[in-house]
Amino acid sequence: MCYILYTLHVCQHWIPQPQPGNGPILRICKDAEALRLGRPCPETEHKVANRSQGMCDGCLWKKVSK
Ligand SMILES: [Zn+2]
Ligand SMILES: [Zn+2]
Repeated sequence: MCYILYTLHVCQHWIPQPQPGNGPILRICKDAEALRLGRPCPETEHKVANRSQGMCDGCLWKKVSK
C-alpha cells in the first residue's frame, strides 16, 4: 500500500515529511510500481517514520506568541 510518512511530535501532532509546508508526499510502494504501473493504490497508509522530542512548528509558534 502506498504511504505518507509523518513525524510524530510530543504534542501528538502528525506532521508530514519531509517539509510541513509542502504538504504530504505520497510514496509509491513497490506493489504499485510493479502491478499498477506507478499509479498509487486507492488507499493510503499513514506511517510514523520517526518521533520528534520537540513540538511541531504550529505548537511552537503558539507557545511563542502567548
Ligand atoms: Zn501502494
Ligand atoms: Zn503540535
